Amino acid sequence: MQRRTLVTCGLPYANGPAHIGHLRTYIPADLFVRSLRKQGKDTTFVCGSDAHGTPIVINAEELGVTPAELVQKYHDHFDETFKSLNIIFDKFGNTESDTNHNRTTEIVNTLIAKGYVFSQSIELAYCPTCDRFLPDRYVEGVCPDCGAVARGDECDQGCGKHLEPGEILEPLCKICKSKAEYRVQEHFFFKLSEFKGFLSDYLDKLGGTSNARNYAKGWVEGELHDWCITRNLEWGVRFPGHENLVVYVWVDAPIGYISFTEEWADEHGADWKKYWMNPGGDTDIIHFIGGDIIYHHCIFWPALLKGAGYTLPRAVVASGMVKIGDKTFSKSRGYVVWVNDDYLDKGFHPDLLRYYLASYTSHTKELNFSWKVFQEKVNNELVGTLGNFVYRTLLFAHKNFGTVPDGDIDSEVVEKIGAAKDAVTLAFNEYEFKRGIDAAMNLAAFGNVYFQSNEPWQLIKTDAPGAGKVVRNCIQIVKALAVLFEPVMPVTASAAWAQVGMGAGLDGASYDEATVAVEVGQPIPKPAMLFAKIEDTTIQEMEEILEKRVREATKKKHVTFEEFSELDIRIGTIVSAEPIKKSKKLLKLLVDLGENRDRQIVAGIAETHNPDDLVGRQVVVLANMQPAKLFGVESRGMILAGGSDSGGAILLVPEREVPAGTSVA
Ligand SMILES: [Zn+2]
Ligand SMILES: [Zn+2]
Repeated sequence: MQRRTLVTCGLPYANGPAHIGHLRTYIPADLFVRSLRKQGKDTTFVCGSDAHGTPIVINAEELGVTPAELVQKYHDHFDETFKSLNIIFDKFGNTESDTNHNRTTEIVNTLIAKGYVFSQSIELAYCPTCDRFLPDRYVEGVCPDCGAVARGDECDQGCGKHLEPGEILEPLCKICKSKAEYRVQEHFFFKLSEFKGFLSDYLDKLGGTSNARNYAKGWVEGELHDWCITRNLEWGVRFPGHENLVVYVWVDAPIGYISFTEEWADEHGADWKKYWMNPGGDTDIIHFIGGDIIYHHCIFWPALLKGAGYTLPRAVVASGMVKIGDKTFSKSRGYVVWVNDDYLDKGFHPDLLRYYLASYTSHTKELNFSWKVFQEKVNNELVGTLGNFVYRTLLFAHKNFGTVPDGDIDSEVVEKIGAAKDAVTLAFNEYEFKRGIDAAMNLAAFGNVYFQSNEPWQLIKTDAPGAGKVVRNCIQIVKALAVLFEPVMPVTASAAWAQVGMGAGLDGASYDEATVAVEVGQPIPKPAMLFAKIEDTTIQEMEEILEKRVREATKKKHVTFEEFSELDIRIGTIVSAEPIKKSKKLLKLLVDLGENRDRQIVAGIAETHNPDDLVGRQVVVLANMQPAKLFGVESRGMILAGGSDSGGAILLVPEREVPAGTSVA
């Protein structure tokens, strides 16, 4: 019995439009699915919108719409955008569906029945002004682990740790900006700690990319805390028996993978249980995700599945992050490229972006998006190598023969095609998409050399059958290229396929078609070029759009003189400095700011500065910085320093010594 494969993609959050960062995961996943099908594997591909969680509720409140309306809008947007890029899911569902509500309720009830859920009274951030509890994104504060500014559920700007309710320090209400307090309430927890041994074994065997496995193993080797799976929200899947609680979004979002499979199975007369309630059975579940949600997919998710008795995923494939123009991706700072506004609506072909994103670098590495590199890859590789070979071959064949001419296929050509086919298949199966695409592109480069060195344009004058043989070999290579590139560029590959007289139906063709001899006498129509060069002016225009976006985002952040005057910046003299236990980065300083008492300030300069060398030095201090506790040590102020990724902190110092407390403006 043939094994079946279920491929899923991390769910797009239905709270904003698609950007290039999303595609880093979806394009390779679609490529992978197409490649499995070319190997004759029984493959199903599901995804859907993630409809729940606090950011959607907050955004909907701000826009004056219901969460359901907001979700529907972006659900339709993603559905359409994916189709425009030929990312074709068998099912694109929505976690707000009845199926997902029902499946989530069933799984939570099963976990409760098996004793994996317990209740506990915990202290939660509560805003007395708004008179409500503040789940997840409703609260911000300080990460208890690294001291960075963090959101209620995640240390997104610091160490990346998932934060449990009640863990965040110095909580502030996001709605009214006032100080939150802690109040006790009963919540429900999943006994994640009981799954430590299971997870450790599971991760050892987990397939996919090593970044996912290794990152998760690091977390499992540390302390695994039980996981709070309820929230005080209206929007979401109701926690069974509790009207005021919903399950945490990271419970019902991955359950979407199951409910979307159920919905697909319903529509196609298949049995979803063969996929999800078949542990040790003949189904391989493979998750494609972004590198930022490894924790959820490699720790929470397998433990939930194990606890509820469902099939465990065989592999997790995590893509590297996306940078824009060498800067960290950031919507608020303008470092974003929108899929519709900046790409599809500008008339760029979807295949070019598919090619660029899948072939730029290894799947797990960081991808630095640049319009310049996009242009270079299109012009040099697609136009210069692949497009050039296909066009010169077919134009010559059409003009001189009109059909596929007779002639034996050279053993060298057979070998090259066979080797390329094997290399492409193996690389794609190993999630090495760049390696596979490079192997296919090498075959095109070989085709160019073969055409050039056999000089059919000379041969045709003296030896027409000899020229015909060269042409037939080249057409065979074109046919193979169409097959091998179909997973990467489905539209263009189908065009090439049609140009060698194969008609439609490339999607259904297997990799083995690459070596099946193209039939003599098959008509060769007048070819059209597969790719067009991208002009410098086009790229300049695109770069200007990005620059303008960044400028406008920066402008929005301009501060008035009044706002600046609110900063109390002073020169201080360091009186003492000592390391903080358990922290590699932090020093505890006492600084004379010309006040009655020296200020205690925690500074992240331990890696670059020796405490003893600091005593007596003058530094620049933001004196009215919001007080915070870092590693349990109170900090009242911030030492100003320049910083670089490589060089560490560079302290700002006055030009000459001044009295402690001298103000800066
Ligand atoms: Zn942190
Ligand atoms: Zn409030």
